Amino acid sequence: MSKGPFVLIKHREISMAVDRIAGEIRRDYRYKNPLLIGILKGSFIFMADLVRRINMPLEVDFIRLSSYGSNMESSGRIKVVSKLSSRINNRHIIIVEDIIDTGLTTKFVMDSLMKRHPASLKLCALTEKPARRKIEVPIDYLGFSVPDKFIVGYGIDWDEKYRYLSDICYIE
Ligand code: 5GP
Repeated sequence: MSKGPFVLIKHREISMAVDRIAGEIRRDYRYKNPLLIGILKGSFIFMADLVRRINMPLEVDFIRLSSYGSNMESSGRIKVVSKLSSRINNRHIIIVEDIIDTGLTTKFVMDSLMKRHPASLKLCALTEKPARRKIEVPIDYLGFSVPDKFIVGYGIDWDEKYRYLSDICYIE
């Protein structure tokens, strides 16, 4: 049984953070036609809001990795469920993540993209949980640092539930 969801970050605050990040990306990538790569499924709402606020030429692709399933703990084992179709070589890449927890998933994605020789590679995350980090990953654009709680809402699920919530919430 889970308790909640309890609101952690209201939609209005999320919206302001998305505006701020969009401004930073617009400033850094003008005329560079960046490729934003979202990690599915949790990043889909963040990505949709973000690209509209960036509001300049860019491309979007997604990669799907194996998830937590119905468990609240990461297995640590990462599997690519569906691959990218875009060219990476010589392109300016921004990875778009919902949550960086231990950092293992991000490290895996960054390492595999680096092998494909991008012109640059940066990391954008809606949330991160500093208390749980196992591997340091450089976050270039960050929405929120969150406490060590199980986050849901704004695209993020627990066992496919709660993605539709417009606030970032937590369950216990
Ligand atoms: P990491 O590899 O950094 O430990 O975990 C990254 C992935 O684990 C995230 O992209 C997300 O799918 C999942 N995850 C980590 N923490 C949470 C959480 O609090 N809530 C949910 N729903 N997923 C999480």
